[in-house]
Parts: sequence; structure tokens; C-alpha cells
Amino acid sequence: MSKRIFRAICAICCGTMVLWLMVVVGFLHSHTQETLNEQLEVQARYIAHGVEEMGMDFLEDTDHVSRVTWVDADGIVLFDSQSDAQTMENHSERPEIIEATEAGSGDSIRYSYTLDETTVYYAVALNDGSILRVSDGLYTVWEVLLEAVRPMIVVLCLVAVLAFFLARRIANALVRPINAIDLSNPSIEDADEELTPLLQKLRSQRRQIRHQMQQLTRRQEEFEAITENMREGLVVLDGMGMVLSSNRAALELFGTENSRNRDIHVLELSRNSALRQCVEQTQQGHSCYLTTEGQDSCLELIASPVQEGKVGSGAVLIIRDITEKEHRDRLRREFTANVSHELKTPLTAILGTAEIIKEGFVKPEDVPRFATNIHTESERLIRLVNDIIKISRLDEGEMGAHWEVVDLWQVVGDVTARLQTAAQQKNVTFILDGSSQKIHGLPPVVDEVVYNLCDNAIAYNNEGGKVIVHLHAVAEEICLQVTDTGVGIALDAQKRVFERFFRLDSSRSSRGTGLGLSIVKHGAAYLGAELGLESQEGVGSTFTVMFPKCPEELL
Ligand code: ADP
Repeated sequence: MSKRIFRAICAICCGTMVLWLMVVVGFLHSHTQETLNEQLEVQARYIAHGVEEMGMDFLEDTDHVSRVTWVDADGIVLFDSQSDAQTMENHSERPEIIEATEAGSGDSIRYSYTLDETTVYYAVALNDGSILRVSDGLYTVWEVLLEAVRPMIVVLCLVAVLAFFLARRIANALVRPINAIDLSNPSIEDADEELTPLLQKLRSQRRQIRHQMQQLTRRQEEFEAITENMREGLVVLDGMGMVLSSNRAALELFGTENSRNRDIHVLELSRNSALRQCVEQTQQGHSCYLTTEGQDSCLELIASPVQEGKVGSGAVLIIRDITEKEHRDRLRREFTANVSHELKTPLTAILGTAEIIKEGFVKPEDVPRFATNIHTESERLIRLVNDIIKISRLDEGEMGAHWEVVDLWQVVGDVTARLQTAAQQKNVTFILDGSSQKIHGLPPVVDEVVYNLCDNAIAYNNEGGKVIVHLHAVAEEICLQVTDTGVGIALDAQKRVFERFFRLDSSRSSRGTGLGLSIVKHGAAYLGAELGLESQEGVGSTFTVMFPKCPEELL
């Protein structure tokens, strides 16, 4: 800035000086020329008078400073002080001669071939019609001018030097207080008066910027707080596919947590070809939806283009982990298929038996057996429907909201009492070990869990076997263990026994629906309990359910 001020001051000074010089030179030039004209006129009139009196002798006897030419009325040169008159051409066409012939005197400025320079002429008509002309070169004007201008140029140079130093001083003096302003805290009190409006403007702009920065930071923090707590992944891309911003969930879903705070391309997040196509589509201004299936995860991706006018300037990607949803959908599909199949089996048996009876193919003595068949299958059908209803309600979380303090020891007593007949039929003995333990839960669900475990412990027990039910507190939990001395479950089947409709081959023909342990699993999860299984083929099984203890304040 100081350089610009310095240059401007220098330019103004020099420009003014040059302009001034030009005006002075112009004035001097016209003045000098006028003076020359007047001198020539005085000379011409003086010499003309001399010639009138003495003729040629006057001209020849006088020393002439300027050039003197005498021309007769026909334009023939009679005398010239600087050239041979005999050799000179006729002068009747010279403008000053014509003017003098007509008006008595005349002047002109033009180039003289005789003198080889621009010349000022003044001519006077004599009484005999001849013309006397005096002339002088214009260079004399310039000579005078040069003489006058020389000191001016010296002054000009001095002024230029002075202007140079002065401009530097002024520029520095102007810029110094501006440079001295503390931009981080402009103080009006110590500053020059002229700078006050500037400082006030600076202060108000600083306030405005600070306010805007605070707003931006708050918005940024809000945005980060929201996006960081989102379960969905969020990635914002620029037009070239570079990641502008991404949240924690997105990096976790793509398994690229270490790429945080790095400039990366979206394809570094995932090499998936579908993702690449999706990004390309957004770059062409189209939205895109896709699901990708990895080894043990399934992602859903929604990509929308961000457009500025008609040009795509980036994209926003939302990524959701739909592994569990897909798993649930698959289970539901399987469940529906299984339900249809499981319902069809007893119904087909009932229908078949009823048809045989209807057609009269059954001997009267066999009718009770066939009727028992229908009864058994109907019972199985009802059990199946009931189990399906229970598991569906557990699935949908529609078990009711009436949670209460439940004495688990009492539930165990009720269940074993209800199962006494079944146990006796198989000669299985119940051994109950424990004491009153309270949990917080939904009584029908607690009952289902205990009932199904005890029912299975009898059903898959050996003749004369035992079912031992342990109930005791462990730290902050209540531990329910149902142990039997039955057939046990093979290791590979242990993982699957909690699946819906899963039954071991050997038990396919049993009265079970394959939903009992599934109800136990869902019921335990519903109550916040953890389920465990230990089993050994031919030795027996132990199912453990760890319930959370009932909170003190509810007791
Ligand atoms: P089901 O109605 O067939 O009993 P469950 O879901 O209760 O269905 O059990 C699934 C399968 O797990 C059963 O078919 C059975 O083979 C096995 N199972 C369950 N409990 C026991 C147990 N206590 N001992 C051995 N096998 C069992």
C-alpha cells in the first residue's frame, strides 16, 4: 500500500511539473514569436525608410542582423543580404509579398529553401511599388526558449528528487498508523481520528464474524452430535467422489475406522462394484438404492445426488446395517413355510383317518383306535396353534405390560404339580432344590419358560429318570437350572435346538411341536434373562436361565 501511495504522489508531482513546463514553454513560445514579429516589422520599416531615401546604397552599406530582401514590383529580387540576387527566383508569389503589394505590409511563417529553415517574414511596400522584406529563422525563438527552459528543467529535477523523498515520508506516515492497528483487538481510543470510522467498521465486522463463527461452530457441533449418534452411516461426497464428511457408524459399517480424518475416495471405503455404480449414478444426477450382502453382514445403501442448478456437485449416502432385519425376514419366511407344513401334517392325518372311517373301511373294533388317532392329532394341532400364537405374541412383544414381582420358587412348584401326571406316566421323579427367589417379570411368560423346560426334561428323559430343578441366587442374578438324566443332545444339535420347529430326528414322531425351546428363548429374552445349555448325549441335559434379581424397591 505504501508503495502505491508513494508512486501516486511521485506521479502527481512529476505530472504537475511537466504540465507546468509545457504551459510555460507554450506561453514563452508564442510570446517570443510575437516579439520577433514586432522586431522584424520595426527593422523592415526602418530599412524601407533608408531605401526610400538612399536606394541600393543604403542596403549595401548597412550591416544586416536579419536577412533583408528587396524585390521590385514584378517580384524580381533586386537585393538579398544572404544570397546572390541574380540567381534568386521571382518572389511575386510569396504570400508576404502578395499581402504587402495589396495591403502595404504582410507577414508569414514558412519554410525557406534559401535559408533551409522555418522562417518568419515581414514585408513592407515602398512608394515605387517595390517590396522590402526582412526575415529571420524561427530557430531563434527556440534558442530563446531553450535558454529560458534550462533552469526550469533543473528546478524540475530538484522538485522530482524532493517529491521522491517527500512522497516516501508521506506514504510511510500514512501507512504507519494503519500497520500499527491490532486487528485482533482494534482500539479506537489510541488511534488517529481519521482512522476511527475504519476501526469502528473493523470492530463491528469482527463482532459479526465472531457471531457467525459461533453459529457455525454450534451448527457443526449439532450436526456432528446428531450424525455421530446415528445408527445409520452417513457419508457426504463431492463431485469427484471424495469423502467430505463421514460419521462413525459409516466407517464402522464399511470396516474402515482407521480412515477417519483422512482425505479418501469413496471407493477406499468399499471396493464393492455395486457401490461404485451407485456413486456413478449419483454423479449423473440419479438416486440409487441397493443392498449388499457380505459374509456375515448385509448393508442397505441409499444414495442421493446433491445438485447445484443442473450440475451434480456431490452425493449423500445413507448406509444401514440390515443384517438383523434380513435375518428376521428370513426367519419369518421360514416360519410361515414351517407353520403351513406343520399344520398340514396333523390335518392330513385327521382328514385321512376320517375319510377311511367315512368310507366304511374300518372294522367296528378298530374304530376306537382310529378315533384316538384323530384325537391325538387334534390335540397336537391345538398345541401347535397355541404355541404359534405364543411365539408370535412374544415376537411382536404383545405379552402385556403387567409386570409384577414373581416368586420363581412358587412357579416351579405350580409347574411341577401340573406335570406330575406326565412324570408319573414315565416314572420320572422331580427333585426340587432351592428356596423362594423373586424376580420382576410377566407371570405368563415366566410360567412358559419354566413349563417348557420341565416338560422337555420329562419328555426327553429315560424311564425312571430324574428331573432336578435348582433355584438359587448368584450375585445380582437368580439362577434356575433344570437338569434331566435323559437322552441328552448332540453337540452339533445344541446350537439349533432353540430354532423354531427344530426337532431331532429321533424325536420327530414325538408329540412335540418344535416350538417349546423357541418359546423359552424368546421368553427369556423378553424377561431380560440369559439362557444356557449343557448336554451330553446319553447322560442328560442342563438348561440354565439367569434372571435379573428383582429390584429392592419393588419388594
Ligand atoms: P418339542 O416341542 O419338539 O419339544 P422343543 O423346541 O421344545 O420342541 O425342543 C426342540 C428339540 O430339542 C426337541 O425335539 C428335542 O429333540 C430337543 N430337546 C429339547 N429338550 C431336550 C432335553 N431336555 N433333552 C434332550 N433333548 C431335548
